[in-house]
Amino acid sequence: MKSWREECGVFGIWNHPDASRLSYLGLYAIQHRGQESAGIVSLRGEQHHVHKGLGLVGDVFSEEALTQLPGHAAIGHVRYSTTGLNFLNNAQPLTAQLLNGPVAIAHNGNIVNAEALRQDLKGQGAIFQGTNDTEVLLHMIARNPSGDLLECLAASLKKVEGAYSLAVLSHRALFAARDPYGFRPLVLGEMSNPSGGTSYVIASETCAFDLIGARLKREIEPGEIFWVDEHGEHSIFLDKKPVSTAKCVFEHVYFARPDSVVFGRSVYEARQAAGRILAREKPADVDLIVPVPDSGVPAAIGYAAESRIPFELGIIRNHYIGRTFIQPHQSIRDFGVKIKLNPQAAILKGKRVVVVDDSLVRGTTSRKIISLVRQAGATEVHLRVAAPPTMGPCYYGVDTPEKSELIAATHSLDQIREFVGADSLGYLSLTGLQEAVKSEGRGYCSACFDGKYPTPLYER
Ligand code: AMP
Repeated sequence: MKSWREECGVFGIWNHPDASRLSYLGLYAIQHRGQESAGIVSLRGEQHHVHKGLGLVGDVFSEEALTQLPGHAAIGHVRYSTTGLNFLNNAQPLTAQLLNGPVAIAHNGNIVNAEALRQDLKGQGAIFQGTNDTEVLLHMIARNPSGDLLECLAASLKKVEGAYSLAVLSHRALFAARDPYGFRPLVLGEMSNPSGGTSYVIASETCAFDLIGARLKREIEPGEIFWVDEHGEHSIFLDKKPVSTAKCVFEHVYFARPDSVVFGRSVYEARQAAGRILAREKPADVDLIVPVPDSGVPAAIGYAAESRIPFELGIIRNHYIGRTFIQPHQSIRDFGVKIKLNPQAAILKGKRVVVVDDSLVRGTTSRKIISLVRQAGATEVHLRVAAPPTMGPCYYGVDTPEKSELIAATHSLDQIREFVGADSLGYLSLTGLQEAVKSEGRGYCSACFDGKYPTPLYER
């Protein structure tokens, strides 16, 4: 099954005179969730104002652009798509003029039955501008005869399967909705506005609230549509309950920022706990514990603490790598990885080391890192992965390659060890990961690790 996958982040704010500027900051905080396009739609009076572009938040928005986004409410989006279909028409929030006013929608997640719904809508004469599944939802909302946005939204969401955490802005209200499985995170916060009133904020991750000084109130619940308008806050639930929620465990493994609280659990603490459990499950007799920065750092801290082996930043990351860089004229061995990660001989020479990474997908990064660590003089290199083997693609909004490209889906443990060039290789068990995120095997989706997809999958 070929699918396009998008990693995204959403933000929304209601009742603040600096709505677009705070959205800009909110998007800055969740930039890690998508780097290919960014957009903000603001609301003044009954009119929407839109600015979107390809690239990073800091490049898409200027002082001038933000002054063109007036009003007391706004929603924003950052997007990363893996299809190569990164044209501006796919940049979000998507906007439309409907029967009863303007609507803007920002979506994180993947609707698994989008293609079937799209064909249906095309059959009815719908004209699509882009290729993303969010546009399908927008058409469904537009076609609902009731004209009342809440009713349209609820009726449309009942027909879609898969993952959605949504921010929706009309001319009257800010909506936040999360699919009944709760695949992707979505949180609600509040802050005071300059006139002493309450501003409501929604975001994919709590780190966006920290930056703008908002307080976390709660998660938007799986299956909930929350909205705030001139009468205050309201909430309803879709009458579509799965047997269990399916919160994405990979948010904790890699995707979310470590300073966020996701699904009620600190990401940093979950990763550190994963490292501790990994040390108990897969110990190694070594001199140093070295993380692959940045994503392997919290797990390596946990591994080092549990094993009482010194932790060292044996690999240094250059944080200033742009999208592309000019290649050297003469070939430099391992240039691609070296420009980003540089193992230090001063720390590694003559040492037996455990290298800790958050996950192993294709194995190509680990292979290069291990070779560089050896070149820097390490005498033994043991790889520890703070997640189980990645066995299947994600259809719910994380960019994981097809099965054929996943090394663990096609190779034995020893073949993987040999491919990456490690002296030993150890993964965290699934029960270990469940313990780290405090799920006891319940309420989370681990389909990329165990192949148990919580929804039916459709051809795309
Ligand atoms: P590789 O095994 O070479 O495919 O790369 C694994 C590395 O990619 C890990 O160190 C992760 O930090 C990172 N990674 C894992 N999943 C993703 C993802 N969905 N998007 C981007 N990077 C990822």
